[in-house]
Amino acid sequence: MSNNSKHNLEGKYEPKEFEEEIYKNWEEKGYFKPSMDKTKESYCIMMPPPNVTGKLHMGHALDCSIQDALIRFKRMQGYNTLWLPGSDHASISTELKVVQKIRSEGKEKKDLGREKFIEECWDWTHLYGGTIEKQQRRLGASCDWERRRFTLDKGLSDAVVQEFVNLYNDGLIYRGKRMVNWCPECHTAVSDAEVEYKEEASHLWHIRYKIKDSDKYVEVATTRPETMLGDTAVAVHPEDERYKDIVGKTCILPIMNKEIPIIADDFVDKEFGTGCVKITPAHDPNDYEAGLRHNLEFVEVFDDKTIMGDLWEKVKGMKAIDARPVVVEELEKIDALVSIEDYTHDVGKCERCKTTIEPRISEQWFVKMKTLAEPAVKAVENGDVKFVPKKYENTYFSWMRNIKDWCISRQLWWGHQIPAYYCEACGHIHVGKEAPAKCEKCGKTEFRQDEDTLDTWFSSALWPFSTLGWPNKDAEDLKMFYPTNVLVTGYDIIFFWVARMVFSGLYAMKDKPFADALIHGIVRDAQGRKMSKSLGNGIDPLEVIEKYSTDALRFSLISGTTMGNDIRYLPEKLDQASNFANKLWNAAKFISMNLVETNKIVEFRDENYINNNKTYKDEAFKIEDKWILNRLNKLVKDITQNINNYDLGIALDNIYAFIWNEFCDWYIEMVKPRLYGNDEKDKVCVSYVLSEVFNTTMKLLHPFMPFITTKIYRSLNCYDNIDLMISEWPTYNESIKFEKEEIAVEKIKEIIIGIRNIRANMNIHPSKKETLIFVTEKYAKEINDAKEFILKLGLGEELIIQNNKDNITDNAVSVLSDEIAVFMPLEGLIDFEEEKARLEKEKTRLEGEVARGEKMLSNPGFVNKAPEEKINQEKDKLANYKKMLEEVKNQLANLK
Ligand SMILES: [Zn+2]
Ligand SMILES: [Zn+2]
Repeated sequence: MSNNSKHNLEGKYEPKEFEEEIYKNWEEKGYFKPSMDKTKESYCIMMPPPNVTGKLHMGHALDCSIQDALIRFKRMQGYNTLWLPGSDHASISTELKVVQKIRSEGKEKKDLGREKFIEECWDWTHLYGGTIEKQQRRLGASCDWERRRFTLDKGLSDAVVQEFVNLYNDGLIYRGKRMVNWCPECHTAVSDAEVEYKEEASHLWHIRYKIKDSDKYVEVATTRPETMLGDTAVAVHPEDERYKDIVGKTCILPIMNKEIPIIADDFVDKEFGTGCVKITPAHDPNDYEAGLRHNLEFVEVFDDKTIMGDLWEKVKGMKAIDARPVVVEELEKIDALVSIEDYTHDVGKCERCKTTIEPRISEQWFVKMKTLAEPAVKAVENGDVKFVPKKYENTYFSWMRNIKDWCISRQLWWGHQIPAYYCEACGHIHVGKEAPAKCEKCGKTEFRQDEDTLDTWFSSALWPFSTLGWPNKDAEDLKMFYPTNVLVTGYDIIFFWVARMVFSGLYAMKDKPFADALIHGIVRDAQGRKMSKSLGNGIDPLEVIEKYSTDALRFSLISGTTMGNDIRYLPEKLDQASNFANKLWNAAKFISMNLVETNKIVEFRDENYINNNKTYKDEAFKIEDKWILNRLNKLVKDITQNINNYDLGIALDNIYAFIWNEFCDWYIEMVKPRLYGNDEKDKVCVSYVLSEVFNTTMKLLHPFMPFITTKIYRSLNCYDNIDLMISEWPTYNESIKFEKEEIAVEKIKEIIIGIRNIRANMNIHPSKKETLIFVTEKYAKEINDAKEFILKLGLGEELIIQNNKDNITDNAVSVLSDEIAVFMPLEGLIDFEEEKARLEKEKTRLEGEVARGEKMLSNPGFVNKAPEEKINQEKDKLANYKKMLEEVKNQLANLK
């Protein structure tokens, strides 16, 4: 009975029939869980938590394929591996969606109240959450689902509160009035990183302010005339000669008829407009800073929804944008408007809702960044945390070295409510896990918790340790897996997330969160454009899986790509992947049909593998066996090194090339005569090599194409019943030294290719077999050993080996490799006269083409008038004809 009775590979490759079943089987057997074996080294990856209500896109699929490849590799290497999954509550985006939903039901957030609204958010989360998790399973993600975490679950919320309290007690969190980026639509402060800049066509309004007690004016230019109602100064550059004499004077703010000072400040750009700017400290970040420096008044023109206040009756209650023409009209009427010019500038937009961001002063909570950033910069400088590729540390440094305090409060309800409690009686602030029993200042007992919640990134910054049990420092997982090994993410969130994890880890754990930050690019369409809803060029990974397979999708994302670079998603790659899978399937089927019984293979191994030397008995194998075993041994070394260096694209392409070109196209073809022959002992040898090589390549390929490899390995592995994903990763064996055989076979391959080319060029019918005369001194033995497959693959009938050129007819054609020459007498292979006639005819035709081309290209009428493209085409054609003619002439010379 054959070894593969249990798992036959029958019929065509139909991935749908087994991918999901295999995944279920892995999970049921608990393969995704760490072994928790303390004698083994740990290896841990934290999955970047996607939005809980998100859907899988190509970026996730790439992320997931990379992490899964790494974790599978390390698991097979025997590490105690943990890949921890989870999801993020995504405060702004979830809250926005829920607000829209209740609005469509005619309700507003404030009507519902906090508690009810949060209930709605949870309902939403439960309704739409979990989709992405199912999709990650479909991708084959071998993460430990039992350890999955959610940023709003109990443990992670405790971690957030603890971190806040610690930072506050260390003086690293403070509450202050600050200018923040305000989104009037989301109705919350957003961080600098959440503002996108977009070029917009607008105008520059030139307005003149009268200088007090003089006939003179200062002219200012602004893109936002409506804010002039809140101007509290006019500023010039201190070295601007034009305005030296007016600094320190006072001017009159039109409409408001209010006296404001003219100040000098370095930040003014002499080249912008008139070199004279209005200062509105409440509505512009630069003006805000200037306002602080010069002790100016902060006058709010409009509120947090951009509704105009009561500075000027005529625009009171209007939206700021609608107040603009009213203000401009008034300025014109009172002769304060000088001119209006067209002007294009960058406008900050809310990343979530695309509304124009309003800089606004408000009371917010901040994290003091300077002290936290310092060690985080050092950790990367001294190599404690490595960016792969290294160039991305520049992105990190430029952010961290110029870091501003981090505004962490958000005027949202969905998220971690800030653990600050205000005494209702005296306003004293208590920060802690809960409200105190009584106020430490006034002794009263009524408290109100801060309404705001924390920036989503505050909780995700703690992800590498909060998920492992922190703040419980004795948590087993935390001790075992922190610091983690590698963080895999896109370059677009280096400062949002990577940087924040580094300083948070160093602060809370006194240790880096991960050793390596592996940064990948984004997935673009075939034309290099970003995939987006509006362009409609996105590709749904699930559709690809449906149409092709998970393995094909994973292959297409990793093959040919370099870490850190953007990926052009070429659909051809899916066909390439499918062809490859089919090739594997067919090779596996061929092998399983032709193998001898399992026990004979095992016996062969035990007899010929010398365990104490870890090598093979030399006499057990033929030259081609030694060649492929040697090639395989080197492949193992290369792939292991590639994956360790995160060169996943190179690793996959190397395995692909080995299986396709060396194993299938050469080795299997070389050994067919032996498999079909009568030497039973030799059949055992071939069976051993076929299964050894193919099973090993299945292991090497497993991290990238986990399903088909598992399926094939089940059917071909004849040594044990261990599943591929928990089998041992192959190791390079230094004792295997079939170097000489490898070199010889490489030369023989070259010669066989040469022979095939000659036969093709000379139109030799496959039924006509040639005599091959090998002239070599050095490789006589190897060629003799390879005789059988040389004759088969080179279509030869007889093979002669000699050490000189005696007795070789003059018309023999030759193939040369260094130290080996092969001669092929042509008698009997071709009809000389017929072949000569054919070549002469071809020669005449080509000479005609060359003449035509040369004539055309020397005709000024053509060369001067034809489009360049056409001329180049003709040039290429001519060169090609010349080359063909040369070949035909050579062949004719050979015949003579
Ligand atoms: Zn917004
Ligand atoms: Zn109090």
